[in-house]
Amino acid sequence: AKAIGRGQFHFYTPEMTRDAQARIRMENLLRRALENGEMSVHLQPQVDTQTGVLVGAEALVRWNSPELGSVPPSRFIPLAEDSGIIVSLGNWVLRETCRQVMQWQGSGFDLPQVSVNLSVKQLERPEFIDTLDQVLVDTGMDPARLKLEITESVVMAVSDAFELLERLRRLGITLALDDFGTGYSSLSYLKMLPVQQLKIDQSFVVGIGSNPGDEAIIRSVMALARSLDFEVVAEGVETAEQADFLAALGCHQLQGYLHGRAVAPAEFRARWSVVA
Ligand code: C2E
Ligand code: CA
Ligand code: CA
Ligand code: CA
Repeated sequence: AKAIGRGQFHFYTPEMTRDAQARIRMENLLRRALENGEMSVHLQPQVDTQTGVLVGAEALVRWNSPELGSVPPSRFIPLAEDSGIIVSLGNWVLRETCRQVMQWQGSGFDLPQVSVNLSVKQLERPEFIDTLDQVLVDTGMDPARLKLEITESVVMAVSDAFELLERLRRLGITLALDDFGTGYSSLSYLKMLPVQQLKIDQSFVVGIGSNPGDEAIIRSVMALARSLDFEVVAEGVETAEQADFLAALGCHQLQGYLHGRAVAPAEFRARWSVVA
């Protein structure tokens, strides 16, 4: 039932399982969600581990569907990836995030950096760099304030990934390797990869204080990052104990419920504006 072109809709047939039907229904709704204004961007703070000062935020997309209610990204992002919808959705998130950050800047709230998740499907498009350039031009966003989060699979899936990432880096954009430790990175390509940051996956952070295996992995990621000169961001940090463990190892930035969940822009600004 896949591989149907843009703007086309799937139809039900009687023999389909309920699961498959639910999936098709969601995909059809997802196709129209952007133009119907059902998508929004929330922001989650990233803080300096040592000082607790706000250093940036990650943009995380939210879907509020009139038919389905609030749908978690874990349910619709994979669907968006499989159907190709992620290209227009991801590009919209990029533009909307830059627009928001620049609007804030114009009204006295300076977010030092903002992070946007990039799908392999976006990067694969030959026009991706042009699309990105156009967003930067249209919004006036300084590329030095933009960070793009990619997963290790990008390097496997996109044939000219190195060259593309190198071009992004030359534009002044920061690159972060997301969900680090969950994929199959080989050390030899990690060394050559033009990324500046590694994001330690929350599945390891959750084991701090209880799972010696997770702690050992975090220690080795920190050692690796130090010798290869990567900055490290830990995600899914929920407790002071986790934060202390990461701080002691020299982890640069923390992201997680301890410092704040992803919230709508107005709430984010209200929480993080420093009143002089
Ligand atoms: P991710 O990029 O790994 O984003 C981090 C996820 O962890 C977010 O889930 C965030 O809300 C959640 N999180 C942050 N701190 C904590 C914590 O302390 N505890 C726990 N339990 N969770 C925490 P979310 O927003 O549900 O997004 C899930 C995934 O969906 C993201 O994982 C990312 O892979 C994808 N995603 C979200 N927005 C976009 C987007 O605009 N484009 C693309 N391509 N993917 C996106
Ligand atoms: Ca991410
Ligand atoms: Ca992640
Ligand atoms: Ca993740």
